[in-house]
Amino acid sequence: MAAPGQIALVGIGKIARDQHVPAIAASPDWTLAATVSRNGRIEGVEGFTDLDEMLAARPKIGTVSLCLPPVPRFAAAQAVLRAGRHLMLEKPPGATLAEVRILEEMARAQGVSIFATWHSREAEAVAAAKRWLSGREIREGRITWREDIRKWHPGQDWILEAGGMGVFDPGINALSILTEILPQKLRLISADLDVPENRQAPIAARLEFGGRISADLDFRQEGPQTWDVEFQTDAGHLALRMGGNVLEIDGTPAGGENSIMGEYPALYARMAELVRDGASDVDLAPMMLVADAFLLGRRNVVEAFAF
Ligand code: NAP
Repeated sequence: MAAPGQIALVGIGKIARDQHVPAIAASPDWTLAATVSRNGRIEGVEGFTDLDEMLAARPKIGTVSLCLPPVPRFAAAQAVLRAGRHLMLEKPPGATLAEVRILEEMARAQGVSIFATWHSREAEAVAAAKRWLSGREIREGRITWREDIRKWHPGQDWILEAGGMGVFDPGINALSILTEILPQKLRLISADLDVPENRQAPIAARLEFGGRISADLDFRQEGPQTWDVEFQTDAGHLALRMGGNVLEIDGTPAGGENSIMGEYPALYARMAELVRDGASDVDLAPMMLVADAFLLGRRNVVEAFAF
């Protein structure tokens, strides 16, 4: 089994530049040895425009991290696994559930590691929230995930196309936290999906789960942005704010830090551990809930959207 070492990044876009490149640069485990992108380049790193060409030219690159949108990701993931390299996937791990299962099987057959990452699970206060909730009775839960698509996803038309998941692209981060910190499995009861008349994926969604847990996801939030998960329990009120980075108990700060900069370093450390241990980590629970929202959802056609 290859040790962590040389890694390549595929899809040099927003998240690769904002998070992956700095996280790899700061990592004791990894060296960014190549990139693959039709347009993006990282200064000082060899850039390829074709993935198969990179895999053939650089046999010492043992691990490839894919930062592409979900629809083009599967073909790239197959190529990486076919070439016998370890594979790290941005969230959501694919455009469909079945394709992620196929990748998992391919990785097993090839004897390499696959890691379907959920960066929000690495947020500063998620582990503390999980500990606090354990053993407590949850009476009600509410997710409020409202952000401005124009600010965070400028010009990313793919996100509102079929397979782009729309507001579930950020909303799945909330569901990744929820499925991590709750002791019980979640069941979706209903979903309302607001789809712009000129797009394919929802721009807003309201979900109801068993256990009196609800979610309000909206991509049209201007002004203050909200990424909150709140629970009323038999022992008080817990709020995880700023995407899981800040914890409040009964309205009083109780831990965490208002910074997302620890999430990707934690993912790369975990990837190194998986490679060293010859292990994999693929949890589809957040994506199953999104798929269920598309299965059960009532579709409301709303005003056309333009960036
Ligand atoms: P992006 O900037 O729109 O796309 C990333 C790169 O993928 C692009 O630079 C492009 O590179 C390549 N690409 C785009 N469409 C493609 C296609 N149809 N075929 C082949 N390559 C294509 O997206 P992003 O915001 O970085 O998001 C990528 C993934 O990261 C998504 O799954 C998203 O959910 C996740 N993510 C994003 C954020 C965020 O804040 N944006 C945060 C966390 C996770 P080339 O054209 O140069 O090849």
